[in-house]
This record gives sequence, C-alpha cells and structure tokens, in this order.
Amino acid sequence: MSKYIFLEEAVSKIGETVWIKGWVAARRNMGKIVFLDIRDRSGVVQVVGVGNDLDQHSIDVLSNVRLGWLVEINGIVQKRGDKQKSFVVQLDRIEILVLNIFIISESEALPFEVEQNTLELSEGMRLKYRYLDIRSERVKNNLKKRQEINLFLRNYFSKQGFWEIETPYLTKGTPEGAREFVIPSRIHKGNFYVLPQSPQQFKQLLMVAGIERYYQVVRCFRDEDQRGDRQPEFTQFDLEMSFIDQEDILQLIEKAMIDLVKELFPNLRMQQIPFPRLTYMEAQKLYKSDKPDLRTEQDPNLLAFGWIIDFPLFEYSDTEKKMVSVHHPFTRPKNDDINMMEEKPEKVRAEAYDLVLNGFEVGGGSLRIFERDLQKKVFQILGLNETEISLRFGHLLEAFSFAPPPHGGIALGLDRLIAILLNEKNIREVIAFPKTGDAKDLMMGAPSEISKEVLNELHIKGV
Ligand code: ASP
Repeated sequence: MSKYIFLEEAVSKIGETVWIKGWVAARRNMGKIVFLDIRDRSGVVQVVGVGNDLDQHSIDVLSNVRLGWLVEINGIVQKRGDKQKSFVVQLDRIEILVLNIFIISESEALPFEVEQNTLELSEGMRLKYRYLDIRSERVKNNLKKRQEINLFLRNYFSKQGFWEIETPYLTKGTPEGAREFVIPSRIHKGNFYVLPQSPQQFKQLLMVAGIERYYQVVRCFRDEDQRGDRQPEFTQFDLEMSFIDQEDILQLIEKAMIDLVKELFPNLRMQQIPFPRLTYMEAQKLYKSDKPDLRTEQDPNLLAFGWIIDFPLFEYSDTEKKMVSVHHPFTRPKNDDINMMEEKPEKVRAEAYDLVLNGFEVGGGSLRIFERDLQKKVFQILGLNETEISLRFGHLLEAFSFAPPPHGGIALGLDRLIAILLNEKNIREVIAFPKTGDAKDLMMGAPSEISKEVLNELHIKGV
C-alpha cells in the first residue's frame, strides 16, 4: 500500500506525521500563515503552512498554488481548538500542519465551483464536465452510497445462496415492450445483434440449466423515445429462482429492502411493515394508478413501499390492434384463469407483481411459464404465427422440453430505487455518467457519426 492516507484516516492519527494528497478547495493567505482546505474522496481538511518553519520550496508552493490544483503534503496531524472552528470544513476536529508541500498537477480555472451545490448549475455544464461535477460533495456521496447499496445486495443474496452470473450484452431481441438498440455484425454481413432490454430469457435458461438461484447487477438497454426521467441504459438488480411461489419472492425482496434501509439509511422511516399489498384492480380503483403513492404524510424521510399484485396478463393495444403482454410474454397466468385464455384473454390475471415506492415502480417480476404448450399458446394469443414463434423463441421452447423447473423472479430498478433512498428527484443524480433527457452523452459526444470506412466494414450504406 502507498504511504498516503485518505483524509478521513487522519482523525485517528493525531500527533503523527502523515502524507496526504488532494485538491485545493480553498486558500486563505494570512501573510505568514497560509491555510488551505484540501479535498480528497473522503472529506475536506484544513492544512496550515507557517512560513517561518518551512523550506523555500514549500513557501513558494504555498504562495503559487491556486484553487483546484492537486498537491501532496507531508504534515503533522493536530487537534483543533474550538475557537478555530470558524474555518471549519468537514474534518473539523483536526488540521494538518505542513512540513513539506509539492504540486502534483496544476489546473485551469474550473468552469464552475465544485464546492457549491452543483444542482443549481445548468445540466449541460454539469454533464459536459461530469468528472468535475463528481468532485462535488453531493454527487460523490451519491456514488458512494450507490456502491454501498450494491455491495449490501450482493452480500445479502449471496448469503441466501444466489450466484451472480453475467449474461451477454450482444444477443437477440428480448421482447419487453420497448424498441431495441441494434448492433451491426461486421463478420456476418447483413446480420445484427441486439442489446438486451433485460436478461429475461437468459435468467430463465439458467433455471433450466439447474442454477436455481441467480442474480446480477446488470445494465439494460431500451431505445425509447424520451419519456420523463428515463435513460437509454439503466441498471437492474435482476434475480431469478427455481421452485418458488409468489409469496417466497415477495417475502425475500421485502426482507432485503427492510434490512437495506435499516442498515444503510437509519434516518429513513418505512411507513408500513409488512408492506401493504393491493391488487391491480384495487390500485386502479383507489388511486387510478398501478404505481400509487401510498404516503399518508408529507415527510421527506418517509418510505412507503407496497406491492401491486394480480396484474392482467394481456391488454388490448389500440396502436397495434392486438393483444399485448402487460409485463412480458413469459409471465405465468394464474392457474384458475388459464381456461379463459382463448375466450377472454383480457380477463386473465397474471402471477405478476410490482414493488412500488413513493409513487414509483421500483421493481417488477413474475412467476414464469415453463410448459412448452402454454408458452406457445401465449405467443399465439399475442398474434405470432408458427414461423415467428420458432424463429424468435424456438430456443426457449426447445429448452422447455428438457425438464425445466418452475421458476420466477424480479428485477429492481436500481437507479430509481437509489434516487428515492437518496431523496434525489432525478435518476441522473445517482448515475456516474448519465445521458441527457434526449439520450446524449455530452462529455464524450455520443452518439456521433462514424467514418465511411467503418460503415463499409459494417456493410452499412451511409445515410
Ligand atoms: N425482465 C423483467 C423486467 O425487466 C423483470 C422480470 O420479470 O424479472 O421488467
């Protein structure tokens, strides 16, 4: 390990000589004494340079250094007296007395102050310089909290016997209602991969494979026209399990959410435990919504989780002029309703459930069909003919001929869940490098044109 410490570690090193490095967040020149606030990932600390005690190099550095420059400092950790607290930044119980200071790298004038709440800046500015925006306290802490949540969920489900398994990103269409991103194949002329809307079919195939309990923190892709606060790529905590019923999944996820909030967000209050359950019909009747805001008080620290169950399996689409799946075509109809599938498809209820939180859907899942004939019947009701069924889903139907286990699962929308837990209105605040509302990456400049040569290699005629 390097000799450098994170600033937060200095708190337990009073009287010791330490090496730190960080960016200059503030500079106060009092003549013989120069104060700098130094920021690293872990916090901000005041360092004190006393001119008379320093060598010429350090004196020069202290007089030349500017905001945003990166320095390394060798100094003694001291306790701060209460009187001095007026300058106090975060690590306010200590300061570091400079013995030597060196410049690691200089900075141009920053396009904006990262010490301020950057929420007040234009989004264009923040996203173009996202790496500077991440230096700001709020965005950095959101990322810190995000990795704590991921780690919590990984540990939690790993302890319950789940394996994290990666599924492919270059694949074939997974019909879940949205348009798909298409990737041309260079090697196979005229053929295309599709980026998955979710690992839905792969996780079901992992159940056929006998894995029994799978999860993945996974990127999903949907090429949707921008509606509200959406991202073309987003992250799900995706899970699948064999030999379970709906109750098992609801309890498993509910317990994970309760434990997560208690451990990582002790300041937040859950309105009702166990989480209330409403059928889709009840939710529509009472709230005219399938993602109702169940909060009964206005309190920013209040979390109102709830389950919406018994979704319809199909609904009629006026635009497509046919039946479409409310969730996705792999969702299982309730056993009691299976015999209505052909005559009254819109009356059939599904073994499907959504987790809602403060008026947002933060998760959705279902028990799955694992019988070949039943799955085929659903495809037929969705208007697919034999050829389409075998072209698009032949692999799945074939897999279901090799003793598939009954299975089901859920996917949590991590970006939204984290945004609500962190009281952020926009999911962009909890994503390191988000895209704009119209799906652009302002920092990298994506999407962008590509050269004729590359298009040729991909067998694509220019537009
Ligand atoms: N794949 C589904 C989705 O992305 C979730 C699930 O059914 O597990 O919404």
